[in-house]
Amino acid sequence: MGTGKVNYRITRDYHTHTIYSDGKNTIEQNIIAAREKGLKGIGITEHGPRHLTYGIKRENISVVRDTIQKLRKIYEDIEIYFGIEANIINKGNHIDIDPHEFADFDYVMAGYHYGVMGGFCVSNFFNKHAPVKANDKKLLIRNTDMMVKAVYENNLKILTHPGDKGPFDIDEVAKACEKTDTLMEINSRHKYLSEEGIRIAKKYDIKFVINSDAHSTEKIGDMGTGLERALAAGLDMSRVINVERV
Ligand SMILES: [Zn+2]
Ligand SMILES: [Zn+2]
Repeated sequence: MGTGKVNYRITRDYHTHTIYSDGKNTIEQNIIAAREKGLKGIGITEHGPRHLTYGIKRENISVVRDTIQKLRKIYEDIEIYFGIEANIINKGNHIDIDPHEFADFDYVMAGYHYGVMGGFCVSNFFNKHAPVKANDKKLLIRNTDMMVKAVYENNLKILTHPGDKGPFDIDEVAKACEKTDTLMEINSRHKYLSEEGIRIAKKYDIKFVINSDAHSTEKIGDMGTGLERALAAGLDMSRVINVERV
């Protein structure tokens, strides 16, 4: 009190991982941590099944769903969502969750990751880590086209960490999110949307979400630098659907 500084906290963390992908903790541990932190809701969102090392095994999708259903009866004071973080790829419906699988989840998010076949990830990896940057215009066009198609062809709730792991035209991506009512994520674990990305995206009639992308319980509900990036970019915080002033 007294400093006049406005602060915010996450109310619902829509993006966390558990041992069913590359998270450290169990579903129940994530839920307990979210309750201890006073969250109103927590999403369990493993990596999509085509990720070569972290993807959820398809046979575990129903295991996670059943576990969540049981835990909802035990922890009635918090909303528990069963989501997934699909991988954006350059084939089919442009993500690794098929249209008929959508009904399995409360919501589907999608993001661009390395370690998935068929998504230009070798080109993007070398582009990002090359000592001398090549002219990556072609890669930017291919990446953007792939991401925009993923947004249009699927009823996504959230596009996770847009701009991470390769060049993307955030104007085009934000336009697609505007047309399809898709939330753009300000991710705490990855530095995307970046401050610059938020400045571009906020020109469009879209809403945002700040998620921890926690891979361990300590990080659940954590905003990392997400809040700073949003404030530095001049984002009106009423456009972020899952924060409240404290
Ligand atoms: Zn991700
Ligand atoms: Zn994630």
